Amino acid sequence: MRLYSLLAAAKINLYLEIVGSRPDGFHELIMVMQSVSLADRVTVRSIGVDQIRVQCDHPLVPADPSNLAYRAAALLVEKFPGVMAKLGGVEITLEKQIPVGAGLAGGSGNAAAVLVGLDLLWQLGLTQRELQELGAELGSDVPFCISGGTAIATGRGEQLDPLQGSDALYVVLAKYESELVSTPWAYQTYRAEFGATYRADVREFEVRRSQVRAGAMVSALAHHNSAAIGQHLANDLEKVVLPAHPKTAELKAVMTNLGGLGTLMSGSGPTVFTLVDTAAEAEAIAQQLKAKIPDPDLGVWIAQFVPTGVQLTP
Ligand code: ATP
Repeated sequence: MRLYSLLAAAKINLYLEIVGSRPDGFHELIMVMQSVSLADRVTVRSIGVDQIRVQCDHPLVPADPSNLAYRAAALLVEKFPGVMAKLGGVEITLEKQIPVGAGLAGGSGNAAAVLVGLDLLWQLGLTQRELQELGAELGSDVPFCISGGTAIATGRGEQLDPLQGSDALYVVLAKYESELVSTPWAYQTYRAEFGATYRADVREFEVRRSQVRAGAMVSALAHHNSAAIGQHLANDLEKVVLPAHPKTAELKAVMTNLGGLGTLMSGSGPTVFTLVDTAAEAEAIAQQLKAKIPDPDLGVWIAQFVPTGVQLTP
């Protein structure tokens, strides 16, 4: 086959704790990640010339070598020299549904889908683990975006332990289109403000990891207790992103009062989400939110927890 079409799921963070600094300059994190059904369509198609091409009509996404999807293909070419001469180059088409710069790992998901799609197109025969190791070279969220589902992510986010997924909860996501957050800015600002509270060394990191693994969020997921999941949502990055983005802070306050299980900013934001048990509740909250904030700049989406990151489609 000369073409593969894949869905790349967005992720939300049900939990994000910044534990300390790592010698490599990244932060040591403990996160609970969840794939949701809001997804980009990524198509990889063989072309007769030895080139990587990216097509994307989203104004904020570069269709050039800086695109994470392009970089994923370039990484495979670097690791498997000659693959394009043997099997042709690739045209990657990105149909974006996931908002950009939103804390939903849109770019990482696209890279994940390209790795999975090109493994097939170029007949590389890599295992999921091998694809995830390559993905970690592109970005900390890429390994999770490949396998998806529900997982605890540690290290800089690339060390994954699958968690027993919760029931397929619904989620209402909202983001002002004009508000974007740079992930590096969020982490640098957090370091500047809270660096003094960081845990000191790898032994302390391990102690904290054990506590979180035995803690309330992991237990809530294991027991399929959606009320407890909602109650224990937490994200350290809210402490720096919300004060710098008052519109998003206000959005979170409004969503919190609409009666879901819990409301949180995802990742480095600025997307805010509310969890609910049913599709009908999600629809009601989305409608109430649009009525309370009738601003055309506000995007509102309904999605559901899904058990996969990248999914091959017919
Ligand atoms: P994360 O949660 O991993 O921090 P994010 O959702 O905050 O990600 P992205 O949507 O992945 O952010 O995009 C961040 C930046 O990356 C944008 O400035 C965008 O121009 C650039 N970018 C490069 N490639 C892509 C891509 N394939 N899709 C989206 N953005 C991309």
